[in-house]
Amino acid sequence: MDEIIDSVQSNVPNFLERAWYIGMCNAKEIDRILKPKTVWDFLLKKRADIIADHPRYMRVFLHLSKMKDYSGLESYFSDRHYKEYISLLSKQNQLKCQQIAYGDIFSNDLNGYASYDEKAGTIIYLNESLKYYNIFMNLALLEFKNEVPNYVRVNALRIAIRISMEKEAMDFLLDPRGTIPQDIIIRINDTIKMELQYIAGHEFAHYLCGHFDRNKLTIKTILSSDDGESYEKVYNISQRQEFEADLYSIKNAIINKKDLQKMLRAALIWFSGLEMIEYAQDIISPKSSFAVNTHPSAAERYNSIMNAFDISSSVKNEIDTIRKRVKEYKDFLMEDISLNYDEYGLYGSVYLDEPNTEWRGRELIDRVDY
Ligand SMILES: [Zn+2]
Repeated sequence: MDEIIDSVQSNVPNFLERAWYIGMCNAKEIDRILKPKTVWDFLLKKRADIIADHPRYMRVFLHLSKMKDYSGLESYFSDRHYKEYISLLSKQNQLKCQQIAYGDIFSNDLNGYASYDEKAGTIIYLNESLKYYNIFMNLALLEFKNEVPNYVRVNALRIAIRISMEKEAMDFLLDPRGTIPQDIIIRINDTIKMELQYIAGHEFAHYLCGHFDRNKLTIKTILSSDDGESYEKVYNISQRQEFEADLYSIKNAIINKKDLQKMLRAALIWFSGLEMIEYAQDIISPKSSFAVNTHPSAAERYNSIMNAFDISSSVKNEIDTIRKRVKEYKDFLMEDISLNYDEYGLYGSVYLDEPNTEWRGRELIDRVDY
């Protein structure tokens, strides 16, 4: 009897540890998290811990895990953009990149970062929210054959800003916030594919340019929301190195002229969106002069790309139109944020349109439809 009690007691901590991850992870994943052996196990553990530490993500994953096709946490995250970018590198650089791990994670900064620790080694991360942020930011910014109503663009812009501020519930798979016509979503996805490759390329460029210095590590808050904070030991990168990585994300890729222009276009659109995010955040919570910037401003980074490469006339034309929109949106944001602060500051869900309309579709009822 004593033996049975002993065995139950010795399994209690293990049961409690496992319970922490049940729902979002499958059993094999929980084994890997509790006894991490490879850098990919450490990455999985970091992803799971962030979700477990922030109830608002945990709620979403408990919902997701009840869906038929949810098979586990690792397959929830896509690593396509990293692999696609690596495939553009020289053989030698491809081999180097096999030395480190990479993956998307929930974090505050739309920019990526890289962590190091003795056991896990180096891991490159991009913000998981990017894939949703980019849908709405591109819907607000891009030109389409079929006109997008202005109020839909503006709502898309609000959603993108809210995602960047951790105010939008990350349950887009359950509640997509509206319906976007097929031809428009195809154009948006083509752009996102190149944007994500470019952003992943920026992080790989830090590594390939030798910016990751183990003597320059710093503890950084990688996610803070109303319900908790998460920290990570990350590489400290200088502003000069940031500009260098912006250029070498493109220079390291061995691509033809057409694809080069596609990547330049994506980089310029990405920085144009980021410029508006910085602008909105400055209005909402002006930075003190003591605040540390992790990256140079998006406007400076945009100019650095413009000055370093020859941009084709067709890309230039499109970007000119986008830049006009950026200017108009900035004027709009200045007014909108002061008049409708709750649209930006409160946690929840914002939609492209009213229920039962072309851009929204039938209203989904929480706990009935998802
Ligand atoms: Zn960087």
